[in-house]
Amino acid sequence: MSKIARRKFIQLSAATAAGCFMQTSRNAKAQDLPQLALDDPMAQAMKYVHDASSVDPSSRNNPAADQTCANCALIQGNDGDEWRPCQIFPGKAVNAKGWCSVWAPIA
Ligand code: SF4
Repeated sequence: MSKIARRKFIQLSAATAAGCFMQTSRNAKAQDLPQLALDDPMAQAMKYVHDASSVDPSSRNNPAADQTCANCALIQGNDGDEWRPCQIFPGKAVNAKGWCSVWAPIA
């Protein structure tokens, strides 16, 4: 292996290792996030609820009845987790059965 190839290999290995570490840190953080409170001003502005079935589907912009955080394009974290991070509410966890007015379909 040439010196340049070996240097490139070491750089790529370091970048890959750093990426794995960051992914692990993000997953660990997701479990530690505080739950989004219903009286949070941002949650109220977005009409967030912990239980999507409590919202009349006809009141939604897109009145599909099966909208929940678990099937929203903006949810993060792991499938099956009850509380997960959301791109709209950084630093907080939303309920997988919840809903807000920003719900977007997974493409
Ligand atoms: Fe739930 Fe999607 Fe609203 Fe986030 S943006 S709270 S995942 S419906």
